Amino acid sequence: MSERLEKGLTALRGQMDSKVESFFSSCVNCGICAESCLFYTETKDPRYTPIYKTEPLRKLWKQEYSFWGKFSSKLGFTKTFKESDLADWEELVYDGCSMCGRCSMVCPMGIDIADIIARVKQGLSAAGYTPQDLVGAANRTLEFGSPMGNILPALKAHIKHIEADTGLTVPFDIEGADYMVTISANEVVTFPEYIGAITRIFAHANVSWTISSEAFEATNSGLQMGNNTIATELVGRIVAAAEKLKVKNVVSPECGHAYAAIRWNGPNYLGKKYTFGVVHILELLDELYRSGRIKTSGMETSRMTFHDPCQIVRRGGVAAQPRELLASVASDVTEMSDHGRMNWCCGGGGGVSANERAEELRIQVFNRKKSQLDEIKVETMVTACSNCRTVLEDGLDANDMDMEVLGLTELIADHLVENEALVGS
Ligand code: SF4
Ligand code: SF4
Repeated sequence: MSERLEKGLTALRGQMDSKVESFFSSCVNCGICAESCLFYTETKDPRYTPIYKTEPLRKLWKQEYSFWGKFSSKLGFTKTFKESDLADWEELVYDGCSMCGRCSMVCPMGIDIADIIARVKQGLSAAGYTPQDLVGAANRTLEFGSPMGNILPALKAHIKHIEADTGLTVPFDIEGADYMVTISANEVVTFPEYIGAITRIFAHANVSWTISSEAFEATNSGLQMGNNTIATELVGRIVAAAEKLKVKNVVSPECGHAYAAIRWNGPNYLGKKYTFGVVHILELLDELYRSGRIKTSGMETSRMTFHDPCQIVRRGGVAAQPRELLASVASDVTEMSDHGRMNWCCGGGGGVSANERAEELRIQVFNRKKSQLDEIKVETMVTACSNCRTVLEDGLDANDMDMEVLGLTELIADHLVENEALVGS
């Protein structure tokens, strides 16, 4: 047996628990999950059905953990688990699954298929069958603090501009702040307007906040590549910074998987409860809005819709807040045919957008979003995940669709009452 196969099998065996046992025992092969997955509906390739992507773990479970598998192994009837059982699934799992979790919503047996696929990634990653782009991003994060390298100088440069433009101060390393803000590399490099937006909103609402210069990066390449050791190290950095600064809460930015990593997976990775709360930026903005600390004026009049980021809405449960916030600043909002918890993914989550090899497939599956948008004919799509935003812009470009994509936090900032003169300018 090759060393790679041995490592992969050890990692897969480490994923076997009662949840996996009950999932595989209860699958009735109904195929309903297939029609819920955009990688299948847009390609009609049966290899992209959700249940097929779980095959490496199912095969191992059947051979080593099921009664009939063990029985036939004893009689010598079981096919050997080969390295190709891992190698052949690399492209299917990393390029052809955005970890959106839509399949998990439709399974009549309640199987969390996305969770099983995440476990398959653990085996592939241990065996070295992970796209090089994801490995590189993880290595850069471990070494320099961000998947895009050392971006602290870029962040500080943006902050200098924000402070000069607004006359406000962006607080760093403030002990005892109510909120420690984390930011995704994509926001620093591609959408720095997000940082200006939270600065203006927090000043307006008189929020006690800070950024940690030791751990501001929210994205978690370990989660995307399926390496729990790296994922734990990266979450651990944020937790250590929050504990050091004794903050009351950590704020996850407009990034889907970052929210999943710090909010849901983090305590499990670290095996302990946090000493602070975790909120998504939209949860915080909604709370500030409801309590009257955010006051907005003026309404956008262009026809808009909201794209639900899978990890924030479907997997994270933050569905009502963005709608309430958007309705406070926009008068013509319409929903896509499938929205909220059943929205269709942008196609780039789970590390797909960071994997250049998957680009052609990602653009192909954007057809699902295109169909949704063609039905409602909007001028602007608002979202709350910088990764979705990049992927949506790519998809619109590839299809020559003239539509603006905006971040919800920025939209709220542009309507703060003291900015009234700026609205519509
Ligand atoms: S998680 Fe989403 S992309 Fe992955 S198999 Fe399920 S429906 Fe398809
Ligand atoms: S919907 Fe559930 S039971 Fe049906 S094939 Fe998919 S995983 Fe199995």
